[in-house]
Amino acid sequence: MKVVALAGGVGGAKLAWGLAQVLKNDELTIIVNTGDDFIHLGLNISPDIDTVCYTLANLANPSTGWGRNDECFFCLEELKKFSAPDWFNLGDKDLALHLVRTNLLKDGWTLSQVTRYLCEKMAIQQSIIPMSDTPVSTLVHTKELGVLPFQEYFVKHQCQPTMTGVDFEGIELAELPEAGVKSLNEAERIIICPSNPWVSIQPILKVPGLRSLLSDKPVVAVSPIIGGKTVKGPAAKMFSEMGIQPSAFAVAQFYRGLIEGFVIDNVDKEQMHEIERCGIIPIAVNTLMSDNSIRIGLAKDVLAFSETLMKV
Ligand code: GDP
Ligand code: CA
Repeated sequence: MKVVALAGGVGGAKLAWGLAQVLKNDELTIIVNTGDDFIHLGLNISPDIDTVCYTLANLANPSTGWGRNDECFFCLEELKKFSAPDWFNLGDKDLALHLVRTNLLKDGWTLSQVTRYLCEKMAIQQSIIPMSDTPVSTLVHTKELGVLPFQEYFVKHQCQPTMTGVDFEGIELAELPEAGVKSLNEAERIIICPSNPWVSIQPILKVPGLRSLLSDKPVVAVSPIIGGKTVKGPAAKMFSEMGIQPSAFAVAQFYRGLIEGFVIDNVDKEQMHEIERCGIIPIAVNTLMSDNSIRIGLAKDVLAFSETLMKV
């Protein structure tokens, strides 16, 4: 059964890892947000792709969910001595990957070719595809600091500024790589991972032509908001600042017209009726992926749920 998952970084990668344990290797493709990509110290960094790759390769830092396990930061310490920008946590092992990516891009490789190469080297069996080979930059409009590139908002300013809007520079020219088009054409199910709807999933959905490739497939999303809060990151804060009460229901409404099914946490069970009234079929399960067995359990639940939707 061919499945395509849409993912951002940490939240997306956790479910993608679960799906990878349940599906055969050639059954899973993950299309990943590249709106967070940026150039730092001359290096091309793709934070969400890196998080998904490290997680699938079992190389991610288990306590943060991003970055490498058993990492050291000698380079970062030296950068500080040179008063170089040190706000982005660049571990030494992570740095090696960025050096390789940057050089290959300089040699004329596309981001999807580079990603495929890095996946092969990390022995990742699933297909990980960037949403676009041309650059897209998520820009967060803020009340206090004006327009901020995403990583500056997210890491340098710790998501503190008030968001007034978001846009995606370069999105009109973005093109889903050929392998992504093929995987979506062949997909029997689409899963939207519990990633930030505003800045991880929205850019993927805005890639020209991508949404129409989803229109004849059953799409299931998993809520990144549990009990009105995010597990990590600014998604709930973004809903509030955009004038929407953060909840699983708010996420369902965000995806209205796109998804057939919506997976919420057991603690949000009472929201099932209002989700149903939007024409979306809800299911409540345990969605807090605090360990590997829960990731696998959620992946199984999501796949079984999408099976029932196919039969509708
Ligand atoms: P980022 O790109 O690293 O910020 O990661 P994503 O956009 O993929 O994921 C961020 C979202 O994942 C946040 O809104 C979190 O609430 C959500 N998230 C993280 N861990 C979990 C989890 O275990 N379960 C659920 N349901 N959501 C999670
Ligand atoms: Ca991200």
